[in-house]
Amino acid sequence: ITSITAIGTLLILLHLLQSDLAETSTQEVELREGLARAQFELFYQPQHDVKGRLVGAEALVRWRHPERGWVTPDEFIPLAERTGLILPLGQSVLEQACRQLAQWSRQPGRQGWSLAVNVSALQMQQASFVAMVLGLVEYHAVVPGRLKLELTEGVLLQEFDQVKAKMHELRAAGIAFAIDDFGTGYSSLQYLRHLPLEQLKIDKSFVADLGHQDRDSAIVGTVLMLGRGLGLQVIAEGVENVEQWQLLSELGCRLFQGHWFSAPLELVDFEAYAMAGCLPSDWAQPVAGGSA
Ligand code: C2E
Ligand code: MG
Ligand code: MG
Ligand code: MG
Repeated sequence: ITSITAIGTLLILLHLLQSDLAETSTQEVELREGLARAQFELFYQPQHDVKGRLVGAEALVRWRHPERGWVTPDEFIPLAERTGLILPLGQSVLEQACRQLAQWSRQPGRQGWSLAVNVSALQMQQASFVAMVLGLVEYHAVVPGRLKLELTEGVLLQEFDQVKAKMHELRAAGIAFAIDDFGTGYSSLQYLRHLPLEQLKIDKSFVADLGHQDRDSAIVGTVLMLGRGLGLQVIAEGVENVEQWQLLSELGCRLFQGHWFSAPLELVDFEAYAMAGCLPSDWAQPVAGGSA
């Protein structure tokens, strides 16, 4: 009886495994089709300085799915990374970002905007990555410094020397780098010394508990000091309310991104947002704080 049960269990497991594989490959086929049909588009989340001025945006990819509507990246980036489809997807994102920067550079009031693009580990490991980015920047005549690549600490863990060399090559052409979700991975002071970085992005989890968790203000304050000491910009992500904004600016933070300003927006909505110059209804100049 036990062996029958064992075989039964095995068969069930096998069945589950098969349907799981089938499931994955359907999703993969769908993703491939979506790519072929250019269904991946950029949303833009505003970034503001301490005076409330719009300084640029982070490009966040969305899938314009024929049946499901807008699909957010958590639902397809992991699969794209597992299947290698992040390479063509990431290239399309960079292409769209460079094209957009080129357009803004020809429009009054928009020339100064920067655009941050998220880059996956697999992309950084691709041999042709540097040439691809440089090609796009040159083709679209992107102003150096306007394109910023966001890397997570995880990206830096793998093949550090190669990633470092690529970063230096891109930096030499004026491309900026930010460390995304700073503080959530293996932050090493070592890489802060050796990498050509422009910006640290304080992860939204530290911002979320500001004012409730003393430790989080200590961490945020320390990252801001670190940034100042190293001559790096620090931006807070996930700013959702006026209290967080006040605390952050008192701690010396000068750049902000989050739902309090705006969720990521479609291009037309982002440009309308910029035109309206809209700040949150409970916006207030921060009280002078911090030492910077
Ligand atoms: P991320 O780069 O850390 O992006 C920030 C995420 O936080 C975005 O989610 C954004 O919509 C969300 N967010 C912004 N403000 C707030 C806020 O005030 N509160 C809260 N709770 N969340 C906020 P999204 O757009 O779903 O993107 C999720 C992640 O997907 C990104 O995290 C990034 O790691 C990845 N991703 C997005 N676009 C790309 C891409 O083009 N390429 C790659 N490789 N990854 C991407
Ligand atoms: Mg990011
Ligand atoms: Mg982040
Ligand atoms: Mg992230």
